[in-house]
Amino acid sequence: MAKYDPKSLKAEEFINDEEILETIKYAEENKNNLSLIDEILEKARPKKQGKGYVCSGLTHREASVLLACEDPKKIEEMYKLAKEIKLAFYGNRIVMFAPLYLSNYCVNGCVYCPYHMKNKHITRKKLTQEEVRQEVIALQDMGHKRLAIEAGEDPVNNPIEYILDCIDTIYSVHHKNGDIRRVNVNIAATTVENYKKLKDAGIGTYILFQETYNKKGYLELHPTGPKHDYDYHTEAMDRAMDGGIDDVGLGVLFGLEGYKYEFAGLLMHAEHLEAVHGVGPHTISVPRVKHADDIDPDVFDNGISDEMFKKIIACIRIAVPYTGMIISTRESEKVRGEVLELGISQISGASRTSVGGYTEEERPHDSEQFDVSDQRTLDEVVNWLMKLGFIPSFCTACYREGRTGDRFMSLCKSGQILNCCHPNALMTLAEYLVDYAEDETKEIGFKLIKDELSKIPTDKVRNIAMEHIEDIKNSNKRDFRF
Ligand code: SAM
Repeated sequence: MAKYDPKSLKAEEFINDEEILETIKYAEENKNNLSLIDEILEKARPKKQGKGYVCSGLTHREASVLLACEDPKKIEEMYKLAKEIKLAFYGNRIVMFAPLYLSNYCVNGCVYCPYHMKNKHITRKKLTQEEVRQEVIALQDMGHKRLAIEAGEDPVNNPIEYILDCIDTIYSVHHKNGDIRRVNVNIAATTVENYKKLKDAGIGTYILFQETYNKKGYLELHPTGPKHDYDYHTEAMDRAMDGGIDDVGLGVLFGLEGYKYEFAGLLMHAEHLEAVHGVGPHTISVPRVKHADDIDPDVFDNGISDEMFKKIIACIRIAVPYTGMIISTRESEKVRGEVLELGISQISGASRTSVGGYTEEERPHDSEQFDVSDQRTLDEVVNWLMKLGFIPSFCTACYREGRTGDRFMSLCKSGQILNCCHPNALMTLAEYLVDYAEDETKEIGFKLIKDELSKIPTDKVRNIAMEHIEDIKNSNKRDFRF
């Protein structure tokens, strides 16, 4: 039987079934052990260090005890702590992005995804480079600066060369004052060589959802195609890191298998990356299975309630304090609003999950990957975020300044975020307001910027940020960053 070893490069050893089952048992046994829970919460609390904060995070076992705890008072404490941690490392900024679907050709048989190969009635589409350009123009015209590209797995229709061409095209489009400055990539597990090519193409984060960490379930949910290979899929992030990509994004598709198992597996994956590569995941996504073309989410009997979903998000926030957390438009405005308070730091806006969806007047459904719950425009989302007290940020500075992997983490810890990420968020928000916002959003936004500028601790940085914001208002100069 495989033995648990976070440093191992073998999937079954770093995501170890026996260890996960024991973790779930330990969590169940200790879910009413309030003194242990207090100890765990105390360990996770941010501690002041120099100008910033440090946080120890939690092991998968400790975090699983928090997740199992049903005491309402302790759950309240967890939510408070999750918010505290988020404020310490991410402030009130929320990074904005949109997915861009390139192709829904796919040779896999994933039973929860409408792109599965046996689906003969879904419209199959693959964007030409001219269509990519048009989609990018439409996204730039909304105000987006950061994309996550998505494609099915199909070595003939969507080979790596196609993905690389699309990335080149995306970075080459500059419509009016528009610019896509960071392309994150969500494509199937691939080779070190291909990850090197993606790195050389200038991608931001490589995102790959595990879907489920439960190997038995995984094999049934992915009955055919290259994705059936659990080990190859699970070890993909190690290959990505070997290929030079040090920002990787994890995620599970909640609803497929038991959430306790997924939660422990996700944290073990994060611990593994830290143990082997010295840096944890850059982001964690928390998608839930949605209705789609020929997919009924109710056939998967592991759906989780909104309350449990919130608890999972808060516990992830507490366990891996330096990891960004992403929520998509799979979730409604209401749920998104609630989880922003619990640790989410990135959200998508105005997403269309169909291939070629952004250039259509009406939201098309024929090639969609899943139903979108939050169908608001980007301007509505930006406006809403500001009314909730958040700063929508279109910043992409970190990776462009080489602050990836552990360098990003040390920025988080050094307390320099208020002198760096905060002004960058305000300057990119100013770009959005001047170039794309509706009048009311503009008014709320510039008032927010004025209030927030005063929070920049260093006079020099504050003055430079103010000058740049004036330049943005009065000229076509863009893309200032610290
Ligand atoms: N083909 C790629 C792969 O194998 O990872 C890439 C991405 S796919 C376009 C993006 C993600 O959408 C999948 O990893 C899956 O978690 C999610 N997804 C698929 N079907 C879904 C559904 N019915 N509801 C919600 N999310 C879904």
